[in-house]
Amino acid sequence: MWKNIWQTRNSSVAQAKWQVGKGDSIRLRDSLWYKPRNADSLDHLQLRYGTVKDLMDPTSGNWNSELINTVHNRLEAEAILSTAFPKFGNIDKVIWPFSSSGEYQVKHGYKIVSTFLWKILHCGLPTRTELAKKQIITDETCVVCGKSQETLDHLFMSCHFARAIWYGVAQGLRTHLTNTTDLVNWMKSQIENCNIKSHRDIEILTEQGAILWTIWKTRNRVIFEKLEPDIHQALRTVQRLKVNGY
Ligand SMILES: [Zn+2]
Repeated sequence: MWKNIWQTRNSSVAQAKWQVGKGDSIRLRDSLWYKPRNADSLDHLQLRYGTVKDLMDPTSGNWNSELINTVHNRLEAEAILSTAFPKFGNIDKVIWPFSSSGEYQVKHGYKIVSTFLWKILHCGLPTRTELAKKQIITDETCVVCGKSQETLDHLFMSCHFARAIWYGVAQGLRTHLTNTTDLVNWMKSQIENCNIKSHRDIEILTEQGAILWTIWKTRNRVIFEKLEPDIHQALRTVQRLKVNGY
């Protein structure tokens, strides 16, 4: 069902692309990567679960052109083989096309919201509930409030800390007033309804991106630096991110 958001025509999410680095985070079947000529060719080459890294030659640090020409049709293979090299060795990144001039212009708030959504849909944010499911930890309690299970919806929407931040920003957005308590659904509608040519829409999404980012960073600081969650500091961080960018 979530696949639809990547297929929505004219949605900038649908135009997102991978910027290839090491290639190990991008599955060959990934919709944001070049589609294989046919799925069978991947099975045949035992690349069913392969990543883009498998298309690289580890000794020369170059693309494996023979393999690429086998898996992809001519046009795709040419496009892949002409991909710039300086990005190799870096972390794979999803980039979000933005401007109508065709340049890749990354608006941070938009990028953050989209990246959060991307992570949730494809990798899962490592909330405590998720970590407990994988038996990495046993205590699922939200470290920020200590009262509920740390699910995505709790951490970013219903936790009192999250509510205070949503309420505290200029818009006075109250999370319980949004028509959903499902973070993924809500983010999905935010992105889909965002008119990327509207300054106001981008401003709102930037603010929301700043809030999500700040909540996640605060939560990580509580865990890793043993700091108390500080609402005033978090609100200042959101303001700073809105003005100065990330
Ligand atoms: Zn909480």
